[in-house]
Amino acid sequence: MEIACLDLEGVLVPEIWIAFAEKTGIEALKKTTRDEPDYDVLMRYRLDILREHGLGLNEIQEVIATLEPLPGAIEFVDWLRERFQVVILSDTFYEFASPLMKQLGYPTLLCHKLETGEDGTVIDYHLRQANPKRQAVVGFKSMYYRTIAAGDSYNDTTMLAEADAGILFHAPDNVIAEFPQFPAVHSFADLKSEFIRASNRELNL
Ligand SMILES: [Mg+2]
Repeated sequence: MEIACLDLEGVLVPEIWIAFAEKTGIEALKKTTRDEPDYDVLMRYRLDILREHGLGLNEIQEVIATLEPLPGAIEFVDWLRERFQVVILSDTFYEFASPLMKQLGYPTLLCHKLETGEDGTVIDYHLRQANPKRQAVVGFKSMYYRTIAAGDSYNDTTMLAEADAGILFHAPDNVIAEFPQFPAVHSFADLKSEFIRASNRELNL
């Protein structure tokens, strides 16, 4: 059996912080790792803004529950799960992702965790481990699983490199240009073809 490792945001669902910023109208929450490369600084900044606006986990989950997976994502995940063991490797938080995971049929998700108070206030965040996406692939390989990974951005490239096969999906031009060793596709139909090509089994569309 082979394991398919998928990034979540930008691949199956919208960028959660951006979508949340748009839904709430809080422009300051549109800042991403492209604007602030230090993830800890960025997260502290985001948690401060949530506090300022009095937004706790309950309000955040209410907004996220109105988001939907990208068009075609649900069908793609169903297709993939018939052919591979599917694991989502994400830099989001369980508390954010859960409403979206419900819509995707609860595939296995490895991501980070928020610490919240009894009233839902977001107190802190906890990373699962350093270099979490790559380390998950290292772990699967230590169990002699073959892995095929797909993602859209810089935080996926060490996972793609560690996997037996890596695929860029929905990636921006600069990432595609910087990582020409990975095939780059932009539709779920083409992504299915890349998974079939990367597999060492005889699979059909
Ligand atoms: Mg992504």
